[in-house]
Amino acid sequence: MVKKKTVMKYFVKAIWVFNWFNSCGFTELVPVVGSRWDMERFGMITVNSPRKADVLFIAGFQTPKSMKRAQKIYEQMPDPKFVLALGSCPITGGMYWDSYNTVKKLEDYLPVTMYIPGCPPRPEAVFDAVFKIVQHVHGMPDE
Ligand code: SF4
Repeated sequence: MVKKKTVMKYFVKAIWVFNWFNSCGFTELVPVVGSRWDMERFGMITVNSPRKADVLFIAGFQTPKSMKRAQKIYEQMPDPKFVLALGSCPITGGMYWDSYNTVKKLEDYLPVTMYIPGCPPRPEAVFDAVFKIVQHVHGMPDE
């Protein structure tokens, strides 16, 4: 998170999200996009291409094979970009921690900006993480 504020001024107005979800990871975002919490009220929308995304949401247990795809997605995202890991599965492997094929340390593969614990995390926690990023951007010095 070393980009200058002026570079990121559009980022703080609308946060475009690309999702990389395995297993039941998708269910973690359903309450956030649903009518009760409705993330679009805050300028957060999901996009269909990493080339338009500011934030990469990663949820569900990950494997070395799935991380290759996630790394490709991350490389295609324009700077500035952030990675948010949702739920215990991408953090520690979650309930699949003892599988030979489960990633237990996501930061070995991607520069994770923030971890959001829970199984699944509460929508408040997801919003809190995103607003912390926005606050961070606001607090950056002007160029
Ligand atoms: S953290 Fe829980 S809800 Fe999320 S993918 Fe893992 S098992 Fe599913």
